Amino acid sequence: MSVLITNVGELVTNAPVDAVSVASPGPFAALSDAAIVLDGAKVAWTGPAARAPAADSRVDAAGRAVLPGFVDSHAHLVFAGERGAEFAARMAGRPYSAGGIRSTVAATRAATDDQLRANLTRLATEMLKQGTTTFECKSGYGLTVKDETRSVAIAADITPEVTYLGAHVVPAEFENDAAGYVDLVCGPMLAACAPSARWVDVFCERGAFGADEARAILRAGESAGLQARVHANQLGPGPGVQVAVEAEAASADHCTFLTDADVDALAASGGTVATLLPGVEFSTRQPYPDARRLLSAGVTVAIATDCNPGSCFTSSMPLCMALAVREMRMTTEEALWAATAGGAHALRRTDVGHLGTGARADLIMLDAPSHAYLAYRPGVPQIAGVWRGGEMVAGPAAG
Ligand SMILES: [Zn+2]
Repeated sequence: MSVLITNVGELVTNAPVDAVSVASPGPFAALSDAAIVLDGAKVAWTGPAARAPAADSRVDAAGRAVLPGFVDSHAHLVFAGERGAEFAARMAGRPYSAGGIRSTVAATRAATDDQLRANLTRLATEMLKQGTTTFECKSGYGLTVKDETRSVAIAADITPEVTYLGAHVVPAEFENDAAGYVDLVCGPMLAACAPSARWVDVFCERGAFGADEARAILRAGESAGLQARVHANQLGPGPGVQVAVEAEAASADHCTFLTDADVDALAASGGTVATLLPGVEFSTRQPYPDARRLLSAGVTVAIATDCNPGSCFTSSMPLCMALAVREMRMTTEEALWAATAGGAHALRRTDVGHLGTGARADLIMLDAPSHAYLAYRPGVPQIAGVWRGGEMVAGPAAG
């Protein structure tokens, strides 16, 4: 079953024009007065509307923009409870610290599997309606073998991009035995979680895990078949980025407080993406990362939400793009690329984040003529339709 979407005002492909097939996302690229043909779950053709081939069905975009679906490469969605009061207190002057995670840990441990699944499903649906067609999901609010195991298993039912984050924070019961907790994370907890996960992550930060602990956790994860990603340099300068690059992690996330050596290490890395999470700085009233410095140095930059109940409870990639443009001085093209192709790089995915021939047919139709409207009209719902794997899953014609 093929679908022709034609009369597209701006078709962002992140792929070279007229390539027979495209193996991975390229630089930002867009066509005007364009068309795209989906065949089953894949993109079969893109080009000028006037040259579009016939298809089984036809959608008239009426001049609207069509973009790759967002790739949200950093989210914490398996949890129970909420922290609205903590947010309000923070806005009234109390600073954020890593210890707030423990209140969500208590609520998560007390929740049933069904409650965790229902909350995750609600958030995943919310993301899809806002154009996110691929998302990563971390554990990290269980912090016991049993609760981490069920967290990754519940996440694996809903996304292939599951991250084991037993090393989110040292739980209260190990307060005086951090080494004992690291042993648990690298031992029985890892063994139980690895079958449901693709990634291993560690919160390398003062108040969470130090460089040596982070290295040990990433090494253990790797020997269990997981690939590394790191929460790095969020709350202050520290070793996180260096640890991520050394471990050949797919991504160093946050990157708010970087030295020149950190930027150089990212630029020289073989593929460690700097994932910026501007919703966190917005929600914690912290300084934003210096995106221009990273881009000037040639670092690959992704934007993601970090959706979680503590430091940033937005699931909106359009909001994060708008913040990246307004607050971090990224161009609209850079921000859109970072939210699509950048996220794909951060997840080492070649099939998403672009609309080249052969890509997964994951795309968004905006109720606007160009991608710039995502930053130009912040806070306004503008997603007119979402296709995932070639099927319209949100929008007027979806079920
Ligand atoms: Zn995070």
